Amino acid sequence: MTVCVPRLLCSSCSVSRAQLSMTTAAQTQELFRCADAVCFDVDSTVIREEGIDELAKFCGVGDAVTEMTLKAMGGSVSFHTALSERLSIIKCSREQVNKLITDHPPQLTPGIKELVEKLHQRSVKVFLVSGGFRCIVEHVASQLSIPLHHVYANRLKFFFNGEYAGFDESQPTAQSGGKSRVISMLQEEYGFRNIVMIGDGATDLEACPPASAFIGFGGNVVRQQVKEKSSWYVSSFGELLKELEKI
Ligand SMILES: [Mg+2]
Repeated sequence: MTVCVPRLLCSSCSVSRAQLSMTTAAQTQELFRCADAVCFDVDSTVIREEGIDELAKFCGVGDAVTEMTLKAMGGSVSFHTALSERLSIIKCSREQVNKLITDHPPQLTPGIKELVEKLHQRSVKVFLVSGGFRCIVEHVASQLSIPLHHVYANRLKFFFNGEYAGFDESQPTAQSGGKSRVISMLQEEYGFRNIVMIGDGATDLEACPPASAFIGFGGNVVRQQVKEKSSWYVSSFGELLKELEKI
């Protein structure tokens, strides 16, 4: 019988990055099979595209914003600054956001529906933790039968007439290190002992610790830096499904 080792890597969240980087793929796989909660990044992980880039394209400022997104991914500007600057270029109205969701709904990555279903069947709690926008991420959550209170993302604000009014700066996901904070909050609120984070980006990798394990996802885009630092890097959700079928 497989013995779960959820406390192996970060028993008191005090394990250093250096120690975690020595985690083997087999250890990460075991933590994944035993997880009591799995947090997914959304953009380029659960969905094929970057939500903010799609919104920018839809609002006619795609190129300027894509450039800033790349900078934000590279970590050369703070997440908050990058978000704020991109949104001040996009200045989307409520109507534009609604129309984007209707006309160009986010495209789910193949296999994610089956994977989330399987996790739910095993009573694993599934969360979406995104630096993107709640209105878009909620749409994704609904398609995956993930409860809306399991969504952590940024909130856009609008004036009464529907014009862009900024974003809610108090959300943890609006700041650098926000995903780590969300995972710590989940540990405290639900008492999870073994949370696994899955994502394509540097901000996802940074969430471990406090997450017990990180799985790099390269099914939509491969970020070399993340790939190199991931003890287990997958290019499809089928690989994760297969792992769950082992027990
Ligand atoms: Mg992402």
